[in-house]
Amino acid sequence: MSFHEQHPYTRYDRLIEAYERLGLRKVELATTHLDTPIVAFSKDETEFPERPPVLIAAGAHAEEAAGVIAAWRIAERPGFPGRMLFVPCRDPLGWDGIERTLGRIIGEPELKIAGHEHAVGLFREHGDVVWDRNGMAIAIVGPLAFLSFAPDHPGNRDTGEYIQAYIPEQPELVDVLKGRTLLVPGSPAHAEGRSVYGWGGGPSVYVDETGRVGNFNRFFAAEKPPVEVAALRSFALEQRPDWIFDLHENFGDRFGMYTNSAFLSRGDDVYRAMIDTVIAKGFPIMPLAELMPYLNLPEQAIIELYPGVYSANPKRRLPPDAFGVYASSIGAVCFTTEMGMERPLAYRVDATEIAVRAGLKRIEERWRAGER
Ligand SMILES: [Zn+2]
Repeated sequence: MSFHEQHPYTRYDRLIEAYERLGLRKVELATTHLDTPIVAFSKDETEFPERPPVLIAAGAHAEEAAGVIAAWRIAERPGFPGRMLFVPCRDPLGWDGIERTLGRIIGEPELKIAGHEHAVGLFREHGDVVWDRNGMAIAIVGPLAFLSFAPDHPGNRDTGEYIQAYIPEQPELVDVLKGRTLLVPGSPAHAEGRSVYGWGGGPSVYVDETGRVGNFNRFFAAEKPPVEVAALRSFALEQRPDWIFDLHENFGDRFGMYTNSAFLSRGDDVYRAMIDTVIAKGFPIMPLAELMPYLNLPEQAIIELYPGVYSANPKRRLPPDAFGVYASSIGAVCFTTEMGMERPLAYRVDATEIAVRAGLKRIEERWRAGER
């Protein structure tokens, strides 16, 4: 088996071809820039034809690479007797990274970027550099915007967090980015030897027409979300899954998850099974008290339903802006898994896969017992 066959996820088009080879039914959801399809796959074969499908989605934030790989592993060997839907990667262009996506625009799909200066040179040659200050450059090239940091820039500590806080403070920057997706390089600490301009880089940022700055796990409540969000929103609305696993990663080095379970009054047995299994397999859990210092949130905004299981406080109404919150409006219980990124990728993939499989097993048990 070649490297690419064993690791099809290092490029979006290969990942999709690999899902096709599994014999799953492909569903085209939408097309994003550069004629890139956003797709889902359906495992139709089922022992439970009367049950709604289970949806597994990944790759909303490119650097959270464990989710895309864990979803792929589950698709390869589902071990679940119900209908399943997979959205292998919610942000194809961000997943492929700056090298591949910029390379496609300039007609050099195998482009390799040697570093910040090389990136800025390419930006100047092929587009408009709209921001270049203190080692941070942003350029518009074709239909997209691209970001690069010099190696000593403080934004490298967490490129996605940094740029999402930075842009709203610069009105001229908000203005030039309106309606655009900004591709963000990865954080060197999480690149594990990969290029920060390569696959599984930084989480793409989207600035909507009103100037609101967010990412592809936001805008689910918006009238005009980016196509990546609109595609998943309509797909979920149309398919009406009862259960959703949206695979993300988080601060710190331990496993946890968000859920809307408390709002729908079901699914506590599923998250308990997930957490208990993750612990039993030797992966520690992130308690809410230790996660809170990383989050810029008021004290009472989030409650902990079970160790490592976080929920919006039902006493505070939140707009359904993230996918996991939007899920409530279609009656689906969503588990937004969050593995801590301060671990090697292989470890994070294992923890995520174990958690989802434990959840699936519990759902199967419910079905066999005749429960919803
Ligand atoms: Zn995420």
